[in-house]
Amino acid sequence: MYKLITYAGYDNKYGPHIFPIEPDLDRTISHIKMARELPESIERYMRSAKPIPGKTQLLLDAMGSSDYYGANVNGDYFPTEALDHKGPEYGYETFMHYAFPYKFHVNKDPSRAYGDKVTLSDYDRKMHRVLLIVTVDDRKCSDILNDLANGKYWDVSMGCRVPWDECSICKNRARNRGEYCAHLRYQMNRILEDGRRVCAYNWRPKFFDISFVPIGAEKASHVLAKVAHQIPVYEIRSSAELGEIYYAKLAEARSAAPSRRMPTSPRTFPPRT
Ligand SMILES: [Zn+2]
Repeated sequence: MYKLITYAGYDNKYGPHIFPIEPDLDRTISHIKMARELPESIERYMRSAKPIPGKTQLLLDAMGSSDYYGANVNGDYFPTEALDHKGPEYGYETFMHYAFPYKFHVNKDPSRAYGDKVTLSDYDRKMHRVLLIVTVDDRKCSDILNDLANGKYWDVSMGCRVPWDECSICKNRARNRGEYCAHLRYQMNRILEDGRRVCAYNWRPKFFDISFVPIGAEKASHVLAKVAHQIPVYEIRSSAELGEIYYAKLAEARSAAPSRRMPTSPRTFPPRT
């Protein structure tokens, strides 16, 4: 199933999650280092990074392990072992193999991406976060980059595909929302009377989309939808539901592909260059 997960580009507790890598590398690194220590591979890359004409390289603090930061607002739990995995099957490295930067999740066609395939990804074992170096096109991303220069951080959305997710309460494994147990269907992200939180464990996430979305756009559309349909205030939309909305065409394309006998095969999607 496809999932869409969105994090704020800036949060009050941890500060910015997007850092432009400027031509003055020493200055950039010391600037970022004031905020945090960097894993060796990222620092090494940044120290040797050369400016690319017409492009801007960004360091993206994409997401944290739920073992340290908890589940996200949609009730998605990404354990450390699911993110800190080297290789193209699942985990942090999949960003580097499959994900292009987009605006608004237009991700069927890599030629419509706003930059190159993710340049570098690593797992920060001190802070337990996935870090990415993303190279974007200055002209196509002038709005994002101008906002960034003015201290406004766009939200960052990630698309991932999971063969199944697992309910934190009854351990039911569902390959799609139709197979969800009552917990994930009706109580997503709630805390039960015994203190346990209802969430969906994603043990095998394969990330294929890294998108910039204007601040709060998805929250706003969610709020509007709530008003329109008078959905109870506490209803949580699962990322699988959002994934169905945003990645419907991808799912269609996949099911129409000739290799349907292996629905979870990584070979049919995402496209490689
Ligand atoms: Zn359950």
